[in-house]
Amino acid sequence: MPRIMQETSKRHLYKGKTIGFVPTMGALHSGHLSLVKRAKSENDIVVVSIFVNPLQFGPGEDFEKYPRDVEKDMEKLRDVDADILFVPENKNLCPEGFATHFIIEGISDRLCGAFRPGHFSGVATVVCKLFNIVRPVRAYFGQKDFQQTVVIGRMVEDLNMDIEVVTCPTVRESDGLAMSSRNVYLRGEERTAATVLYKAISLSREMIEAGVSGPEEVKARLNEALRSERLVSEIQYAGVYDPKTLLDLNEFKRYNLVAGAIRIGGTRLIDNVLVEAVKARQ
Ligand code: AMP
Repeated sequence: MPRIMQETSKRHLYKGKTIGFVPTMGALHSGHLSLVKRAKSENDIVVVSIFVNPLQFGPGEDFEKYPRDVEKDMEKLRDVDADILFVPENKNLCPEGFATHFIIEGISDRLCGAFRPGHFSGVATVVCKLFNIVRPVRAYFGQKDFQQTVVIGRMVEDLNMDIEVVTCPTVRESDGLAMSSRNVYLRGEERTAATVLYKAISLSREMIEAGVSGPEEVKARLNEALRSERLVSEIQYAGVYDPKTLLDLNEFKRYNLVAGAIRIGGTRLIDNVLVEAVKARQ
């Protein structure tokens, strides 16, 4: 199966076509489809992959129950004119004897990486394999998974991969909740409570744009806003970070990443915004 995909890409490349690539884990929503639409507008051929990557799930995470519905996904992809859907099976992508793993030092261990050991190694390893199979000129990722875009960007640069990594804006529900395949886990009042993350992050953005003195004040208010929602069962991290290094900021830079990861009941949610602080200092 990867071999067929690779041959297909080779034929398109031979004809001088550009390939845009959107890697996903399926259970597609409008966030994924926005990436496909962007890829369609910038490339001759768009390849979408669906692969629930076992390497990026830790023990006790939701690999088994992760939502899967390839039939429905295919319909959605037809509606946005995706050209090729690649759905590799684990036994073909990571066959017995598979032994190669990437480590992207530093940035992989921060933020989400601190709570999901091995996650970004699993992401990078499989994304690299998919890049080698699909051979895109551009690959599309969502800002919702900001750390993932930083890790993939690092890998592409460090390994001289000739691929443009394109980051697309986060698509949200009308109440601000970032779309995610995992939102189906939210039950009843948890769904309403989940809006607290984007609300709190938006409040941080307003504080920065209004000229608040420094990141510490923003971080304190952000955590307070998250704690005020009784259904938040855990705040894994919430603060203001350097968008390149993902380290905590002591003072504002021109661009500041406000990001958080929380649990509502058993569901883990992440979100972020990039805030330009220039306005505040002028
Ligand atoms: P996933 O299927 O969750 O691995 O996501 C596949 C791609 O879609 C990743 O690049 C995600 O960042 C992106 N994505 C997921 N949710 C959203 C969203 N709400 N808005 C934009 N991109 C998204």
